[in-house]
Amino acid sequence: MLRLPTFDYVSPGTVSEVLAVLAENPDARLVAGGTDLLPNLKHGIESAGTVVSLSRLPDLSSVTEREDGSLELGAMLTLEALAGHATVRARLPSLAQAAGLIAGPHHRRMGTLGGNVCLNTRCVYINQTHFWREALGYCLKKDGSACHVVRRGKRCVAAASNDSAPVLTTLGASLIVASAARGERTIAVADFYVFDGVNNKTLEPDEMLLKVIVPAPARGLHAAYAKLRPRDSIDFPRLSVAVAYELPDESTVSNLRIVLSALAAKPIALRKVTELAEGRAPTEDLWSELADSAYAQAHPLTNIDGDATYRREMVPVYVRRALRDALEHGASR
Ligand SMILES: Cc1cc2nc3c(=O)[nH]c(=O)nc-3n(C[C@H](O)[C@H](O)[C@H](O)COP(=O)(O)OP(=O)(O)OC[C@H]3O[C@@H](n4cnc5c(N)ncnc54)[C@H](O)[C@@H]3O)c2cc1C
Ligand code: SF4
Repeated sequence: MLRLPTFDYVSPGTVSEVLAVLAENPDARLVAGGTDLLPNLKHGIESAGTVVSLSRLPDLSSVTEREDGSLELGAMLTLEALAGHATVRARLPSLAQAAGLIAGPHHRRMGTLGGNVCLNTRCVYINQTHFWREALGYCLKKDGSACHVVRRGKRCVAAASNDSAPVLTTLGASLIVASAARGERTIAVADFYVFDGVNNKTLEPDEMLLKVIVPAPARGLHAAYAKLRPRDSIDFPRLSVAVAYELPDESTVSNLRIVLSALAAKPIALRKVTELAEGRAPTEDLWSELADSAYAQAHPLTNIDGDATYRREMVPVYVRRALRDALEHGASR
């Protein structure tokens, strides 16, 4: 049986107390639902001197409509609540869809939006028992000096595997994070992740995520999410595709975005697709051209399970599926 290592545990009742603990304990780690942090602690993939529970914090689990029409989503909102929330389903159907496809029902009941946004990266060479990793000589991400995915690679390429990240990127969302020393700051989700699998977030150790802000949907917004995974009931993505575009006059596409994930350490916003689709009719011909562009830009690695060649062949298939799904079922209301 895998056991948790020893650590101090605190469960503050206010955000400022959480921030004070983070400021005083550089080795402190936040735990929300614990569905990722706890297995990682058990496997020795992550360590913590102090574990700070967010479960007693009030007011971080709500969905609030702001005056400008944007939605404010609390970091402690569970995935189950997010997926089932009537306003989120109506206004941001691709986000509700992605939340409902994360892990299995038990994880979604415990797991939170904040934990998902801040999820650690994944790799077949790191998400293993300590014994397994030791036998391999560890790797760059933890305890070692070499990467087993990119030979002589100097940077970890473990994959961003959180389903919310590509969707929030297509929706132009931003994050409100806070620290005791510097107060609150806002950062676009598109700028939050970096190409470094050791730590793919621009979140300082003394900061916590408070809220996710999603702007009011543009007129005629259509969006959808498509996810390739071995078992639809529980698994992490082998490929994630989030799409969003506007059909302001119902017949021509505007401002199209496609973001792929589960490939590299951060979600990848495809280049040139906005220009390719602008002003064109939402037809199968256009979807095929966009799918071809996605295929040309996607280069899966052997960082997560699933044959990399197969995952690349699935890119155009899942891009077409997401684009069609957005047209048929993904209109914001
Ligand atoms: C079998 C299994 C399958 C899974 N499948 C998927 C999947 O398909 N897709 C997917 O995306 N995930 C999957 N997960 C991972 C996980 O369940 C989800 O990502 C979940 O949303 C994590 O949320 P949590 O609240 O449990 O995070 P935690 O485990 O509590 O935290 C995760 C990380 O976020 C940090 N954190 C949490 N809250 C905050 C905050 N407010 N501010 C700053 N940092 C914070 C923690 O310190 C930790 O580093 C799976 C997990 C398991 C065990
Ligand atoms: S990508 Fe390389 S360094 Fe990163 S976890 Fe995998 S094997 Fe380790």
